[in-house]
Amino acid sequence: MMRFSILGTGSSGNAALLVTENARVLVDAGFSARKLGQLLAVLGESLARIDAVFLTHEHSDHAGGIDGLKKFPHIRIFANDATARAVQGGLEHRPDWQIFQTGARFHFRDLMVESYAVPHDAQEPVGFRFTSGHDGDLFAPRRSIAWFTDLGHAPHNVHECIRECDVVVVESNHCPELLRNDTRRPWSLKQRISGRHGHLSNLATRDLLAAVASPRWRRIYLTHISRECNSRAAVESTFADMRLTLAACEFSVVEQGQSTPFYELA
Ligand SMILES: [Zn+2]
Ligand SMILES: [Zn+2]
Repeated sequence: MMRFSILGTGSSGNAALLVTENARVLVDAGFSARKLGQLLAVLGESLARIDAVFLTHEHSDHAGGIDGLKKFPHIRIFANDATARAVQGGLEHRPDWQIFQTGARFHFRDLMVESYAVPHDAQEPVGFRFTSGHDGDLFAPRRSIAWFTDLGHAPHNVHECIRECDVVVVESNHCPELLRNDTRRPWSLKQRISGRHGHLSNLATRDLLAAVASPRWRRIYLTHISRECNSRAAVESTFADMRLTLAACEFSVVEQGQSTPFYELA
């Protein structure tokens, strides 16, 4: 059994809570410890009960909370070496780093964790797949959640990963037209966002999901939605047709400032 909640997502912070029988972990910690504590309290949880954090990359909207977690030294921080170094550079304390190799599979308590290299403008950014249970186990069937939030395009390994998941969290960052017309961002930043090492547009995410279209999917979370260069309406209209063809799968659009209630994967 896994329970999953997105605490928040977007350029102002990303974090999710994943709970199994024996583990309580955060995926990314892009909010202050105080804010994380508040977001967890809404779910009846607390930082004191969190065992570990899994970091995708060093950008502050994913790792900015690590500094504040010094008050919770029992929390282990999992990251690859390049990400750990980049985050450590901005810290005065030394967290309990647990270094993994990108692409290697490892276990944390009853969770199997796999990391996938993704193209994004960070040191060594990854996405994750978290799995609990086993095939054929009636009481603890195999369940998997994928987490891919910052990626300029989706390489083959991402396609393969999400095919075998029950829940997919993926970014649907910007609407190309709204990004083009945005007057606040300089041209160079727009190029970075829409580039091969930036973020997935609504259309790119739709193409990724359409190319895989796994019958296994139960829920897709569309996340890391730009406040100025995207809108719920733009996301909804991009995915309207797919919602009909993937009728067995629920789609959840998670905007900045929103949290999602626990989703139970029995
Ligand atoms: Zn990033
Ligand atoms: Zn981000």
